[in-house]
Amino acid sequence: MENILYAPWRDEYVTNKKIQGCVFCHISTHTEEDLHVLYRDEYCFIVMNKYPYTPGHFMIIPHVHTDALEELDPAIWLHMTALAQKGVKLLKEGFGAQGVNIGMNLGKAGGAGISEHIHLHLVPRWERDTNFITSITQTRVYSTDFEKVYQKILGLIPKYMPKQ
Ligand SMILES: [Zn+2]
Repeated sequence: MENILYAPWRDEYVTNKKIQGCVFCHISTHTEEDLHVLYRDEYCFIVMNKYPYTPGHFMIIPHVHTDALEELDPAIWLHMTALAQKGVKLLKEGFGAQGVNIGMNLGKAGGAGISEHIHLHLVPRWERDTNFITSITQTRVYSTDFEKVYQKILGLIPKYMPKQ
């Protein structure tokens, strides 16, 4: 069995489609529903993680392609962190999470699956979810549940992340 506890979030992202170049740049500029985007504005977008650490795991990603957080426009970083606050509220109040992990894996050595384009993880957590996660990652039941979770969170977006 795969050990999933080495980091508080998984960092891999795979789509069924062959995508040329950066996956996140592709999602940034495409609107197909099967990309599972939750939110977009002029600075960033939010997308479900296809291989979630827990159900409801999503990522806040700047449109600008960069592998260096330290070089990101501070205004965009501030915007992302403001969205992260709203995302935490959405996960706790709207989605019933008892805790949340937020974080970034920077660089391949930092555990980033897609290291060329930085992304901020939000992972909802529940008491004793480790056992639950272990059992579901072995069977990967996500193909149907993933869609349900996506629709659920998508429905919460207008309330918790209203467009200005
Ligand atoms: Zn990119």
